[in-house]
Amino acid sequence: MPLVNVKDMMEKARKGHYAVGAFNINNLEWTKSILQTAEELKAPVILGVSEGANKYMTGYKVVADMVKAMIETLNITVPVALHLDHGTYEGAQKALAAGYSSVMFDGSHYSIEENVEKTKEIVALAKKMHATVEAEVGSIGGEEDGVTGRGEVADPNQCKMIADLGIDMLAAGIGNIHGQYPANWQGLDFETLAEIKKVCGDMPLVLHGGTGIPEHMIKKAISLGVCKINVNTECQLAFASATRAYIEAGKDREKKGFDPRKLLAPGAEAIKQTVREKMEMFGCIGKAE
Ligand SMILES: [Zn+2]
Repeated sequence: MPLVNVKDMMEKARKGHYAVGAFNINNLEWTKSILQTAEELKAPVILGVSEGANKYMTGYKVVADMVKAMIETLNITVPVALHLDHGTYEGAQKALAAGYSSVMFDGSHYSIEENVEKTKEIVALAKKMHATVEAEVGSIGGEEDGVTGRGEVADPNQCKMIADLGIDMLAAGIGNIHGQYPANWQGLDFETLAEIKKVCGDMPLVLHGGTGIPEHMIKKAISLGVCKINVNTECQLAFASATRAYIEAGKDREKKGFDPRKLLAPGAEAIKQTVREKMEMFGCIGKAE
């Protein structure tokens, strides 16, 4: 199946009360592990790519072409969307031009007026290309921003302003944080989430920072309208830990254990396991059948 945008996926997730996993990719191993797991579990999937990861993989076109070719060569039949994660105004335009089927325009650091204006422009451009758009209100913090305890919480009225611009999904800060959660994290703000859901109606909501949010909070967030959950750090941690175990066991020094196809295999397996666990938690297994 060729790349698809997220429209159908989000509609089905909203009606079926589950969430689709958006897993960030960093290289070929990541992409292959996630695609194979989605196919095996018959789950729709979103491949997220940050601008940094795009640069690392040498550009939007390389990423788009690799993903499209891999879908074909691996005979992937489940719906796959290629989505720019936290895109800038310029980055979103480049990703769309290169063939991404979905983009996030993160205008949360602009004033609400400027966020509205720029989001509108990206929506108009994406529509021409049959691509979908995710917008953000209320910046979602991370450890790198020195945020501890609780991430930013979005203003439901601003959410409504952005939701009315023709976007396909909305990311709103509800106390979630990128990366690992600090010990003093206060949890998700479900009151705000319920308020956002009330004013935004059927707009599919996106939960960023899916790494380490306890299962009961994930389930509750889904029941309150979250249809897409982003997972990035957890796959990285799983990959790093499996690779460390391989090297610490001295396996890279046994026979041809230094061969990258062997050296990176335990990490790739660990990514698959993480994706499987998340898909189970999000309830999207079998939803592509
Ligand atoms: Zn995010």
